Amino acid sequence: MKTALVTGGSRGIGRAVCLSLARMGYHVLINYVSNETAARETLDAIGGQGELLRFDVGDPEAVREAVGGWQQAHPEEWIEVLVNNAGIRKDNLLIWMEPDEWQSVINTNLNSFFHVTRAVIQPMLLHKYGRIVNVASLSGLKGLAGQANYSAAKGGLIAATKALAQEVARKKVTVNAVAPGFIETDMTGGLDEAALKKDIPAARFGRPEEVAAVVAFLASEQASYVTGECISVNGGLYT
Ligand code: NAP
Repeated sequence: MKTALVTGGSRGIGRAVCLSLARMGYHVLINYVSNETAARETLDAIGGQGELLRFDVGDPEAVREAVGGWQQAHPEEWIEVLVNNAGIRKDNLLIWMEPDEWQSVINTNLNSFFHVTRAVIQPMLLHKYGRIVNVASLSGLKGLAGQANYSAAKGGLIAATKALAQEVARKKVTVNAVAPGFIETDMTGGLDEAALKKDIPAARFGRPEEVAAVVAFLASEQASYVTGECISVNGGLYT
């Protein structure tokens, strides 16, 4: 059975990605860190075509244990699609930003890419097939006030996407990113949508499925000659 790992698959964009990958025939490893109820809802929504894999993407030991443990328990299988989606934001103007607000956002959004990708990439290279899709952000392309930590993490993620793509292209492993604008999820729940959508050419926030559709394309076999790219999904907000 083909296997995909989606970090932060319990809610929001990650859940929509799990649904898309399940429809593509993948057995989906649904990662989450604390909200087991939501993760189980995702598993139900994909008709049980997967399993839960709890770990903190920013904790290298936890990543090794969980992903390594899964691999040991399934020696015949390997993860051919990885979607690095888990993320947090802790907005603050830099002048007020606490060290923890900087470090935790860099750790969960950027260091996680290193930990999780390293844990799954070797079998992809051995099998000469793999798809890695990183969920970045408009903030990592443009920079947004109040998000120096988040912009730095997502900008770093986009640069890492481009670098790794060049390292593994010969082995038929592609590495791409998507950069969503404002998407209706828990992460944007506290934002003033009425005010913000005035600046969005499409005049609305996006839906998680609209991001998942692009992730699904990048995760598909058809996207074999697309690598090192970052595709915006933002209703025309910034290109
Ligand atoms: P969300 O609804 O807040 O969901 C976040 C997901 O990440 C949850 O599944 C959560 O798990 C998981 N997560 C958080 N910290 C984790 C950790 N340390 N280890 C493992 N999992 C962790 O967020 P979202 O809006 O869907 O965002 C998904 C991705 O898109 C993020 O990378 C975000 O930065 C990016 N993005 C979002 C938007 C937007 O407008 N929503 C725009 C641009 C980019 P639990 O359920 O266990 O907490």
